[in-house]
Amino acid sequence: MVKTEATLVAPSLDPGLLRPDFPALDQKIHGHPLVYLDNAATTQKPTAVLRALDRYYRRDCSNVHRGVHTLSQRSTASYESARGIVQRFLGSSSDREIVFVRGATEGINLVARSFLGPRLEPGDEVLVTAMEHHANIVPWQLVCKAAGARLRVLPMDDRGELRLEELGKVLTERTRLLAAVHVSNALGTVNPVEELVAAARQRGVPVLLDGAQAVPHKAVNVEALGCDFYVFSGHKAFGPTGIGVLWGRREHLETMEPYQGGGDMIVTVGFEGSTFREPPARFEAGTPNIAGAIGLGAALEYLEELGLPQIEAYEAELLSYATQRIGSLPGIRLIGTARRKAGVLSFVVEGVHPHDVGTILDQRGVAVRVGHHCAQPVMAHFGVPATVRASFAFYNTRFEVDALEQGLREVKEIFGP
Ligand code: PLP
Repeated sequence: MVKTEATLVAPSLDPGLLRPDFPALDQKIHGHPLVYLDNAATTQKPTAVLRALDRYYRRDCSNVHRGVHTLSQRSTASYESARGIVQRFLGSSSDREIVFVRGATEGINLVARSFLGPRLEPGDEVLVTAMEHHANIVPWQLVCKAAGARLRVLPMDDRGELRLEELGKVLTERTRLLAAVHVSNALGTVNPVEELVAAARQRGVPVLLDGAQAVPHKAVNVEALGCDFYVFSGHKAFGPTGIGVLWGRREHLETMEPYQGGGDMIVTVGFEGSTFREPPARFEAGTPNIAGAIGLGAALEYLEELGLPQIEAYEAELLSYATQRIGSLPGIRLIGTARRKAGVLSFVVEGVHPHDVGTILDQRGVAVRVGHHCAQPVMAHFGVPATVRASFAFYNTRFEVDALEQGLREVKEIFGP
């Protein structure tokens, strides 16, 4: 047998065994078993995460870093241990590089305000790609506007792959930061981030990678990637909402001004002025999302136990099955056909508005996302206002793809040829 990337790592993952770990998957919607294919929006949570949250609130509930009493020491230990889990998960060399934030959006805003903003001069440029989520466009626009700088865009082609041959034109001596999505939420494209980082580094340009859609699907090692900042959201990686991570190189974090002011981030406070703690505390003003961080730690440990290579191999097979089944239905146009993809199948059904498709599928228990997916420039590129997006996780099965296919056949029947 020819050894492919997928066969080198035995896809030993069995979703049948894992699904009981996810109580929310076991329910009926309009009388049909739930087929949850909206994982790019948010993922379901395993009992390991629910138990960690329950334990914190039932047993250890207390503020962190402040109390001498036992509960506070317990919650501080769990919170800081979660930071250590994230450090290991991302392959970072220090837990001082892990900042807990609300999600990918806040992580990007933090870098825009505290890192880039003070360094931008009129005429400077920030480079993004044509397939960014709004969270990786708007924060840069805001700081560019304030500084008189401008946003430039690395274009993509009609498969939804970046046009790397254009990089030389848009990465210039005025570029102060390159911000790129690792895996596109609207198209599923896995970008060649190593090449982007190498090109930027050659010019001394720092790179932020948006890993919101990468972390749930593949192993990420920030040191191997060589980027400067990496962000992701807990809720898209089987953890709680309201928690996320900014990983930043220590040498950058140490030079950055606080993002928000308040308790826990200071060394001294007087009316004449205040001094600030070292990172990451400097960027975690106020009471943090303690339960969220602990829950995220449990989620990442769960992923580590399954094995990210196994998850990637299983999902690659499932996505290829889905692409073949759904892509061969008459009247379906796939949006995003890159050669390297993860987790996402976006499409439009000829003559049917995506919202109607989503509503009919919901009546059959199939949950998909319809809309612009917070990626309006991507929709503009493909000339559509919205798409239907089925997005997968390791707990999805071929049967669920079949249910989606059957639902789409019924959509076609209702709306005619
Ligand atoms: N980046 C990408 C690629 C995303 O898919 C999302 C959410 O869909 C975000 C950023 C923003 O994530 P959050 O809303 O959790 O901050």
